[in-house]
Amino acid sequence: MASYCLDKRRRQRHHACMQTTEPTFAIDVADVSKTYQGSKKSPPKHALKNISLQVPRGSIFGLLGPNGAGKSTLINILGGLVRITSGSARVYGYDVVTQKRQARSAIGLVPQELNLDAFFTPLQVLELMAGFYGVPKAKRRSMELLQAVGLHDKANAYARTLSGGMRRRLMVAKALVHAPPVLVLDEPTAGVDVELRRMLWAYVRHLNAQGTTVLLTTHYLEEAQELCQQIAIINHGQVVANDTTANLLRRVDSKEIVLKVEPEIRSLPETLVMHGFRVDDARTLRLSYQPSVMKLGHVFLAVQAAGFTITDVSTRESDLEDIFLQLTRKAA
Ligand code: ADP
Ligand code: MG
Repeated sequence: MASYCLDKRRRQRHHACMQTTEPTFAIDVADVSKTYQGSKKSPPKHALKNISLQVPRGSIFGLLGPNGAGKSTLINILGGLVRITSGSARVYGYDVVTQKRQARSAIGLVPQELNLDAFFTPLQVLELMAGFYGVPKAKRRSMELLQAVGLHDKANAYARTLSGGMRRRLMVAKALVHAPPVLVLDEPTAGVDVELRRMLWAYVRHLNAQGTTVLLTTHYLEEAQELCQQIAIINHGQVVANDTTANLLRRVDSKEIVLKVEPEIRSLPETLVMHGFRVDDARTLRLSYQPSVMKLGHVFLAVQAAGFTITDVSTRESDLEDIFLQLTRKAA
């Protein structure tokens, strides 16, 4: 996946014809609510409740949340696919309701579902999309895009003969035909194999390095942790956390420590049980503790007072998974 000057060139073109000043926030969501109308059988669904969110231009921003949290609803509002109930949202400075056309041309959306027409070839798919966006023929770079996502040798194959991973890549290329400054990916790697996932992330990083702002939702916390500078966690249609990845991780007040001890542990002394120690095996003690409450010195003293010598220590920092569970459990 390499096409190293394509994106920059196209972005400059975009800027030249669309906008002279660049917005601080590539995405600016203010107090957005969405209620899906119910039917006789189902009551109305409040999918988003007064969500506010700002994605700095040039960043890779992660949107996390359990199933049904409202991630796709928010993303589809940005892409003009779902109508806002109240509040406002801007993409690259353009209001998605009052400046719909400009907002749409500023965003490339890769939806959660793979909706490709089976009877078109990848090349046709990209050409049709470019036509839809009004990209003049001379300015189209369909083959370059296919090359960039590693599908150039499939340019003329029918979409129905493509594997799931290839379709996913085609969807990414399709979202980029108009060289949008903002790329939004809704769970692009759900159910995708490890190799393709790595490839997609490398391409996302490359696009970002060229200036594209990226908003993505993912179930893979590890990936969000690795890829995103900032993360918002939403649950039940509300933002429950929104911070830099580093700050989020710092907020998790929980660490784990594993101690190798001598002599063998025959039964765990009551004082250690009270501290919350668990026995892993005859020579290993494990403890989850809150650094803000319990100091390591006290932990060591308690172990020594119980008659053990500590021969080795290892600790584990909490990761995003811990904070995700903490936050979504709390808000449930
Ligand atoms: P996520 O992408 O985080 O899994 P969604 O935005 O898809 O969440 O859904 C949020 C909530 O809105 C869920 O409860 C879902 O069932 C509901 N929902 C989504 N789309 C519709 C729709 N078209 N009509 C009614 N309810 C919907
Ligand atoms: Mg979704």
